[in-house]
Amino acid sequence: MNGRQAAAEIAAKLKEAQVFSPEYEAGEIILEVCKNHPLQVFEVTAEQKKAIDAITAERVKGRPLQYIFGKWEFYGYEFFVGEGVLIPRPETELLVDIAVKNLDKDSVMLDLCSGSGCIPIACAKETGCRAYAVELYDKAFSYLEKNIAHNNADVTAVKGDALDSTHFDGITFDAVFSNPPYLTAEEMQELQREVRYEPETALYGGEDGLDFYRRLFTLWRPRLRDGGIFAVEVGDNQAQQVKKLMEEAGFTAEIILDLQGIARVVCGRRAEMCV
Ligand code: GLN
Repeated sequence: MNGRQAAAEIAAKLKEAQVFSPEYEAGEIILEVCKNHPLQVFEVTAEQKKAIDAITAERVKGRPLQYIFGKWEFYGYEFFVGEGVLIPRPETELLVDIAVKNLDKDSVMLDLCSGSGCIPIACAKETGCRAYAVELYDKAFSYLEKNIAHNNADVTAVKGDALDSTHFDGITFDAVFSNPPYLTAEEMQELQREVRYEPETALYGGEDGLDFYRRLFTLWRPRLRDGGIFAVEVGDNQAQQVKKLMEEAGFTAEIILDLQGIARVVCGRRAEMCV
């Protein structure tokens, strides 16, 4: 069997199991196992076919491909992932783009609710800045530490609550980033099959999804220098409300769209308060 035939066979099985992007995932499986793109001309060995079948069987049951592989790419870097940590998503790369535009090797940034550490690690690697990453939950924290070491990144992992700023008394940041849990109670009831494998603690943001934003901006503002930036990812239809919360906390804020034109990030600058 050649690579193209193997890919077609996987895609057919995934399609039957109602996987959202069967051809794309089939290509990823071939690439992972055979280290070759399915469009290249190569024969799949018996051993590779066995591995492909095992992965496909697990994927058909609904477990996300990223957890099956145990790793995933974000901003060109490799991150270990598994149950207990949120899978890095491409739209989150927008936050790294903001870091690239605003930070350099003399900057110090903080990332809250870090999970796998994809944001602070990519930011530190891309800009040379120094980063601190806060994560509360054990499993996610162990992935964070592993990913910092794996990427040889200048990131300090801090086990703690994003809603407690006392670990950072005395430090002033140039930027604070976060992709906090932001799904609403209603969205939690309708999660895609794959997302149900991901930790609720990384997804659920309270009844209207805005719990974290209500507290983060006010809490961390005093730790930001004047003109420092606070950038957060937001859920569908939350950008306007989050922008307002940021402005009320003493920031000038703007909404940034992702590649699909969805309002995905709110980015603010710490403004001088008049009173
Ligand atoms: N982007 C994730 C989802 O749509 C949610 C991540 C989060 O709550 N920060 O499932």
